[in-house]
Amino acid sequence: MARNDAGHFFTTTVTISEAYRERLRSLHDALGIPANYMDTCALPLCEEPAELVDTETDFYGRPQRLTREAFNAWTAMKSAAASDRIEIFLISAFRDIDYQHDVIKRKVEEGRSISEVLQANAAPGYSEHHTGRAVDIGTPGCDALVEAFENTPAFQWLKTNGNKHGFFMSYPRDNQLGILYEPWHWCFRKPDK
Ligand SMILES: [Zn+2]
Repeated sequence: MARNDAGHFFTTTVTISEAYRERLRSLHDALGIPANYMDTCALPLCEEPAELVDTETDFYGRPQRLTREAFNAWTAMKSAAASDRIEIFLISAFRDIDYQHDVIKRKVEEGRSISEVLQANAAPGYSEHHTGRAVDIGTPGCDALVEAFENTPAFQWLKTNGNKHGFFMSYPRDNQLGILYEPWHWCFRKPDK
């Protein structure tokens, strides 16, 4: 899978199991996602990790999980931000493929077309949140998951300091992945070995 520094994708040698692909095919089928989607999607396939740890609860008081490595990096980044008088908090972290299916199903049932929904929500298997390394970040005084996050001091701080902590913005404005701009979505990138 190709990631580059501009899009923050990196080469991974992880092999996605056939069993996982099979689960995805059946979830896609249930949502009416075309059978060739997995062959043509520009997004990298994301597998759920074997192990997750509990994080602090999110902004809404819901339990959240990340990989241990990502959680340690998140904790370090949050406290570094706090030292600079910047408050950042978790809005969402790990989400499994069934959750992704349910989110998309709800939107389709509300009357949106599947292709429209897939512009804002990756198909099951293609959300970085499956990896346990992606976080949606919030800050006081800004609504959750809105483009205006880019105007906050927190975003400016993340742009300067996020990479130092291993976090990269996955979906910059006008990205080549066909995903809408998400200034709040950052993914912990495994250090190159
Ligand atoms: Zn996200």
